[in-house]
Amino acid sequence: MRQPTTYLYDGSIREVESILANLNSERPFVVIDETAFVSSGAEAALQPSFAKRSTTWFSKFELNPKLPDVERAVQLFCESQSDVIIAVGGGTAIDIAKLIAALSQQTQPAKMLIRGEAPLADFDVPLVAVPTTAGTGSEATHFAVVYIQNEKFSLAHPNLLPGFVVVDSELTRSLPRSITAATGLDAFCQAIESLWAVGSTEESIAYASEALPLILEHLPTAVHAPNAEARRAMSHASHLAGKAINISRTTAPHAISYAITSRHGYPHGMAVAMTLSRMLQYNGSVQAEDCSDPRGVSFVRRQIDRIVDLLASRTLDEASQKIDSFIAKLGCPTSLQAAGITSRPQIEAIVQEVNAERMSNNPRSSTSDTLLNLLTSGVTAA
Ligand code: NAD
Repeated sequence: MRQPTTYLYDGSIREVESILANLNSERPFVVIDETAFVSSGAEAALQPSFAKRSTTWFSKFELNPKLPDVERAVQLFCESQSDVIIAVGGGTAIDIAKLIAALSQQTQPAKMLIRGEAPLADFDVPLVAVPTTAGTGSEATHFAVVYIQNEKFSLAHPNLLPGFVVVDSELTRSLPRSITAATGLDAFCQAIESLWAVGSTEESIAYASEALPLILEHLPTAVHAPNAEARRAMSHASHLAGKAINISRTTAPHAISYAITSRHGYPHGMAVAMTLSRMLQYNGSVQAEDCSDPRGVSFVRRQIDRIVDLLASRTLDEASQKIDSFIAKLGCPTSLQAAGITSRPQIEAIVQEVNAERMSNNPRSSTSDTLLNLLTSGVTAA
């Protein structure tokens, strides 16, 4: 996979002009989350670059990319004959930009490509990602999430990895507390899941092992008493966690989360965190007969020990409690029940919609019944 040109330091937003100049861009296509663009300060920094070029803007879209918005964006991009796509915003804006780059260069209908019913033809549109949240790490991955109705899909292609990445933590200073918490929890879950993922490698383990302590130390400050150091550490950690999952992919908590977001409206990171401690307990009890990692049960146990260690705990129970108290202190729910998803039918519906591909990357296999039991323990049949 090609290596992106990455600018990761405070004030790196200024690099966007040199990226555009080096690409000889005259017609940028800019995907912005309007709130993020204005409040982060990106607008003030980038307006001169966009004003002197023939810029096309795409800014009206729902959060968590939806196919109709993506199709409108693709059409606008094709009409505009733009020469580069720039995303400024959170994971939603960045994923929409990635989807435009891929889907504008295809002959088959978008829906078929997203559903995996037709192969994605090669594409190569210059892509610049400027995250304004610290959590998804989307700027560092070759995936793009998109929803068709309530169903979540993840397009994957090496060229979805943006060629130019500008991570400037100053852009995250305007994040409200709840979004800082939810997005930061996405990075927290990514780091932990990446460590136990079947798809992990030495490289992804190194990225995740660097990200997790940064998040443990700095996310509470970024949420409750934000300062430049905490914001900087979280932007860095989020980028590292993104690099980790770019290799390893995510696992059960992500697989379960998508229906929690689409059915119950919880922000992505918050939804993922709801099942993290239970999945640590579950994966920590892996046996040879239900181990899905070809490297074997002792490898998985070593990875779980590594997680327990990184959480400064001595036992699985202690680590699991640490996760829950970390999440609770950020003001977020630690379980489906704590989020008010309390009835068995609601949880059954979530289990039915679990993403099978992400689930198969979990180190311990499970059936729908196992998962239902795990997620409903303590729930009545109402
Ligand atoms: P988001 O992009 O959906 O934005 C959430 C909210 O934050 C919005 O209201 C936005 O206006 C606000 N916001 C963003 N930056 C701001 C700023 N600096 N100041 C004030 N407000 C700001 O949130 P997200 O969590 O970054 O992205 C979630 C999406 O990313 C989901 O669709 C998820 O599935 C996807 N995702 C993709 C990948 C990937 O690898 N492609 C990885 C993880 C998550």
